[in-house]
Amino acid sequence: MTSSFPKGSRSYNMSRIKSTDTRPEMLVRRYLFAQGLRYRLHDRRLPGKPDIVLPKYKTVIHIHGCFWHSHAGCVLNRLPKSKPEYWIPKLQGNANRDAENSVRLKSLGWRTLTVWECELKPKVIADTLASLLRQINS
Ligand SMILES: [Zn+2]
Repeated sequence: MTSSFPKGSRSYNMSRIKSTDTRPEMLVRRYLFAQGLRYRLHDRRLPGKPDIVLPKYKTVIHIHGCFWHSHAGCVLNRLPKSKPEYWIPKLQGNANRDAENSVRLKSLGWRTLTVWECELKPKVIADTLASLLRQINS
C-alpha cells in the first residue's frame, strides 16, 4: 500500500501526529479505569500500536482524531483549503493504515473498537462511554 504514496509521504511519521496522552484518550482511560478495567497503553507488539489494549477482553480501542483519521461525514473532518496535494495522500495513507491494522489485529484474534474525538464532546460523552463499555462486555 505504501508504495502508492507519492515520494515524501512515505517518511511520514504517525508518532508525530498521534501524540500520547491526548485529552480525548485520557477521558476514555479514566472512565475505563473507574469501571475497574485494566489496560495496556500504546502496545508496540500489536499492529498500529493501539491506544488502549484490554488483554482480558482481547479488545483494542483506538481514540481517533476526526481530521487525522477522516471520520466520514463528521463536522470536525474538513480538508484544509490549501495544499490538497499534500493533505489528500497523507490522510488517505492514515485511513489505509487504520484499515490494514484492523484486519491484522482481527487475524490475530483481537477486536478493534474505535472512539472518535467528536463522540467525546461534553453533550455526548456519557452515551459514548456507556456504549463503549457495553461493546467491551458483549
Ligand atoms: Zn468525528
